[in-house]
Amino acid sequence: MSALPQRRALVLLSGGQDSATCLAWALSRYAEVETIGFDYGQRHRAELVCRLRLRDGMQAMAWPGRLGPDHLLTVEVLAQLGGSAMQDEVAIAMQQDGLPNTFVPGRNLLFFTLAAALAYRRGLQVLVGGMSETDYSGYPDCRDNTLKALQVALSLGVERPLTLETPLMWRDKAATWALAEALGGAALVELVRRESHTCYLGERGRLHDWGYGCGHCPACELRAQGWTRWVGR
Ligand code: ZN
Repeated sequence: MSALPQRRALVLLSGGQDSATCLAWALSRYAEVETIGFDYGQRHRAELVCRLRLRDGMQAMAWPGRLGPDHLLTVEVLAQLGGSAMQDEVAIAMQQDGLPNTFVPGRNLLFFTLAAALAYRRGLQVLVGGMSETDYSGYPDCRDNTLKALQVALSLGVERPLTLETPLMWRDKAATWALAEALGGAALVELVRRESHTCYLGERGRLHDWGYGCGHCPACELRAQGWTRWVGR
């Protein structure tokens, strides 16, 4: 019996805690892993620096030879659509439809579609994203059913079976720290703590127990609460 060909993956690496953990998860199970990132005019540029530091850190860890090239795509069209607190200098608030104004409509759908196109060109079979339904801001494009539907649409659309993996879908932030520890021990936890970026305001002045950030925005609060739950387990 001939062995199955080894699968190769493309990780959507934003530079945050979730996508950093997903990169380690992918490195631990696929023969080769490439990364994709998007410059869409986000308010803070910190995460674009972080994603490269995370890659460098993981390159030195327990998965030699598996980390392939990075691809950074410019997606200016999202800024043209406008109107999100992720891109514009407006205060973070709840909208009338119950979604926070940090929601960028269509963003994850677009990112996965571009990732599928790149995966096609590069001969990669698996797309990995850090979306979660457990500790999330209610973004409808992070839901499991949205991404299951997208997996079918993208696979049909390129006439190739693509698998969308979301290892954090049913994990909260505390479980995400636990996963990092299980994958790469204290060294990986420390890398993610120091070099991943979550804060909506782009604040990196002060290192808290849980990492850098303003400590007050919704993303910092979620990250800090998850860290506290994980440390106090
Ligand atoms: Zn913050």
